[in-house]
Amino acid sequence: MRRYSAFAIAREAARHHLGWERAWKSPAPKASYDAIIVGAGGHGLATAYYLGKVHGIRNVAVIEKGWLGGGNTGRNTTIIRSNYLQDASAAIFEKARSLYETLSQDLNYNIMFSPRGVMMLAQTEHEVRGWQRTAHANALQGVETEFIGPRRVKELCPIINLDGPRYPVLGALWQARGGTARHDAVAWGYARACSDMGMDIIQLTEVTGVRREGGRVTGVETTRGVIGCNKLGIVVAGHSGVLAEMAGFRLPIESVALQALVSEPIKPCMDVVVMANTVHGYMSQSDKGEMVIGGGADGYNNYTQRGSFQHVEETVRALVETFPIISRLKMLRWWGGIVDMTGDRSPIISKTPVENCFVNCGWGTGGFKAIPGSGYAMAELMAKGHSSLAEEFSMTRFREGRFIDESVAAGVAH
Ligand SMILES: Cc1cc2nc3c(=O)[nH]c(=O)nc-3n(C[C@H](O)[C@H](O)[C@H](O)COP(=O)(O)OP(=O)(O)OC[C@H]3O[C@@H](n4cnc5c(N)ncnc54)[C@H](O)[C@@H]3O)c2cc1C
Repeated sequence: MRRYSAFAIAREAARHHLGWERAWKSPAPKASYDAIIVGAGGHGLATAYYLGKVHGIRNVAVIEKGWLGGGNTGRNTTIIRSNYLQDASAAIFEKARSLYETLSQDLNYNIMFSPRGVMMLAQTEHEVRGWQRTAHANALQGVETEFIGPRRVKELCPIINLDGPRYPVLGALWQARGGTARHDAVAWGYARACSDMGMDIIQLTEVTGVRREGGRVTGVETTRGVIGCNKLGIVVAGHSGVLAEMAGFRLPIESVALQALVSEPIKPCMDVVVMANTVHGYMSQSDKGEMVIGGGADGYNNYTQRGSFQHVEETVRALVETFPIISRLKMLRWWGGIVDMTGDRSPIISKTPVENCFVNCGWGTGGFKAIPGSGYAMAELMAKGHSSLAEEFSMTRFREGRFIDESVAAGVAH
C-alpha cells in the first residue's frame, strides 16, 4: 500500500485526487485462517495488528457484524490517561499511553494524538486523600502524575469555577502527558495497517456460533457461512457475554449503556481535559470546537445504543456548576454505547475453558485509552500462550478472589 506523506498529498492535489487507493480491502472470507478475531473495534484491530507486526501471524481475519469502529470505539469521548491505582492496571494503561505517542508514525496514519493533559478534580477531602494516594502509587509505578492545588487548576483551566455551589475545587490529580486522540482514526489506522499486511477485514458479517471439537475451537459460524480457524479471539465489548455463551462458557460481565453528548462548536476556551467525579461529569474541547461531554451509565443492564434524557440533565447540571460559562450552550447531539462492566472494573484478557479460544473484554467505561496496550497483550497471549501484561487480568481471578479493584479510577471517569 502506498505510504501517506506530504509528497503524496501534493501529488494527488495535482491530479484531482484520483490516485488514492482504498484504505483497506473488503475481501470475501477464506475457508480458514490461522487466527480469527471477532469484533473490529479498536481492541480487535489492535490485536490483529500486533499479531502480524510482532509475532508474524498474518493469515488473520477480523470479522465485524457492522462497520469497523462502529461500536464503542467510534462512540467514546477519547480520553487517554494511565493514572490508575493498581500496579497491573498502571502497567497496561501506561504501555498503551506510550504506544499512542508514536502510533501515527507506526501506522502511517494521523490518529491526532493530542497530549494536552488530563486533570481529575478533587472536590471533597476524601477525594484529596484518594488522588494523593494515587499520585504516590503512580510515582512508584513510573507513571508521571502529580497532585496540584486549586491555584494551578485555575491556571491550567481558567474557565473552571473553583467555588461551586455544592463542592469547591480542592485540587486535582494531573497527568500532563494524558490527552485525547481521534477515535475513528485509531480504528481506521489499525485497519489499514492490518489490510496492508494481508489480513482480511470482513465487515457486515455476524458471528452466530462457535465451532468446537474435543474442547478445542475449530471455527466460527457466520452469516456468510462457516470459517475455520486454529485460534479465536473474542473482542466484542458489550456483546462478550453473548459470544461466550456461543462458545459454551460464562463471563462475569454486565452490559449497560453509557452515554455522551457534544455541544455546538465554540471558539477555543479549554485546552485540557477535566473530569469532575463528585458531581459526575467531564469535558474537553474537540478540534472542531464542540464541547465533548461524558455522561453516566444506565443503572440497569441493556443493549440499547442510545442516550436518555435523565442522564443528559444530570450531566449538564453537574458541568454547569463546574463551568458556568457553558450554561447557555446548545447541545447538538447525544448517543450511547454498550459497555462491558466487570465487578472490579478491570478488564479480562484471558484464556478460556475452550482451548485456543481467548477473550478480551471488560474495558467498561474506559477502554479507548487502552487500545494499543490491550492489543499488544492480547496478541502476545494468543501467539505465545502467556503475556506478562495480561497475566493478572485472567478471568480466573473472579473465582480465586484476586480482584484488581479500580472502581474509583474507572467507575465514573473514563
Ligand atoms: C459514551 C462512551 C464514552 C466513552 N469514553 C471513553 C473515554 O473517554 N476514554 C476511554 O478510554 N474509554 C471510553 N469509553 C470506553 C471505550 O469506548 C471502550 O472501552 C472501547 O472502545 C471498547 O473497544 P472494543 O474494541 O473492545 O469494543 P467496540 O468498539 O464496541 O468493538 C466491538 C465490536 O464487536 C462487534 N461485534 C459484536 N458482536 C459481534 C458478532 N456476533 N459478530 C461480529 N462482530 C460483533 C461490534 O459490532 C463492535 O464493532 C467510552 C465508551 C462510551 C460508550
